[in-house]
Amino acid sequence: MDVKINLERLKNNLMELSKIGKDPSGGISRPSFSKADLEAREWLKDKISCAGLCASQDGAGNIFGTLEGKGKTVMTGSHIDTVINGGMFDGTVGVLSALECLQRIKEEKINHTKPLSMVSFTDEEGNLAGDFLGSRAFTGLIEREILEKGKTQFGPPLKTILENTEFSIDSIMKASEQRPQIEAFIEIHIEQGPLLETEDKFIGVVENIAGKNLWTCLFQGQAGHAGTTPFELRHDAFLGLADFALKGTQYVAKEHYGSMLTIGNAHIHPGSFSIIPDRVEFSLDFRSQSSQTLKEIEKRVLGFAKDISLSRGLYFDYKVIDKTEPVKTSARLKELMIKFCKELDYSYMTLNSGAGHDAQILNSVSDTGMIFIPCEDGISHSPQEGIKWEDLEKAANVLLRVLLALSA
Ligand SMILES: [Zn+2]
Repeated sequence: MDVKINLERLKNNLMELSKIGKDPSGGISRPSFSKADLEAREWLKDKISCAGLCASQDGAGNIFGTLEGKGKTVMTGSHIDTVINGGMFDGTVGVLSALECLQRIKEEKINHTKPLSMVSFTDEEGNLAGDFLGSRAFTGLIEREILEKGKTQFGPPLKTILENTEFSIDSIMKASEQRPQIEAFIEIHIEQGPLLETEDKFIGVVENIAGKNLWTCLFQGQAGHAGTTPFELRHDAFLGLADFALKGTQYVAKEHYGSMLTIGNAHIHPGSFSIIPDRVEFSLDFRSQSSQTLKEIEKRVLGFAKDISLSRGLYFDYKVIDKTEPVKTSARLKELMIKFCKELDYSYMTLNSGAGHDAQILNSVSDTGMIFIPCEDGISHSPQEGIKWEDLEKAANVLLRVLLALSA
């Protein structure tokens, strides 16, 4: 089968979608259920219908475009929501390549037995209630408590945000009820790292997707005058964090190179020039391709926190905000991707994903696979996100062949 995707159309679709949610700072701000996202959803549904696919959505606002068939569904897609002031390729290349592949199959009237479906998942970026709201709801892995109490990254609570939409917490909780049996889920995504570019390869075949623990933590100490309290009498919460950050990162870098630990956010109280900090609240994000390593990191960081609290006279507490398990992609899907890379003479390499993806969540109900494309300088979640169109074309051509092989 020599069918190829239509790059010009795919490119035009990406350019059109990138105009929705333009941020004055130069990037794109399209968090799920924002005004821009609601507009993008209508745009996408229209594109799906115009491509001759059957457009539908579930209670979580996941949008589907389907070509009917018999048996388990072969599914592909990603997300169109963005972080605040993000780029135009993260997620969207997966959704619009999926649309392009199905549109080509439809217009070339290529025979397939199984149903083929493209999907755009709601709130992959976790702007509303933790990462992967849409794919978690779709697979039945969403917790009502997180939706009701879950802290949004910005703006009002989820319940209030949903008032402007046709969705509700009840409808999100019921989203998985209509889910078909899924044979395989394949997602194209930008790499979000520098490996493919450095190794000069067109296609990344993903082997493992990192699992993540996200905590909010605090050290509580005692405030005191910056000029009169001797060092030996201080209970400086900020120094607790400083010790913790250094010990934690050095430990992971030394003992588990390839795994990650990051403190991306910290608030120092009371935040005055002349007062010893009595409290720091901070985020802790640690990730690994191995669930055993995640457990070891968890144990060690709790040990560090305990030791530091003892030596500095502090109190430590933490709350688990999010937890995802590492995932191995399907050997069968990897083999198919590699087979078609070879057939099409596209250079490829296997690699791991340090970032989380909807494919990881879908793994609980289906075989999953991911195709990465190089992104310029490894940059993502930024207006500077960039790709080469030829790389996207190649990835979408591989996807098209994989979909046809799976749905035959
Ligand atoms: Zn993404």
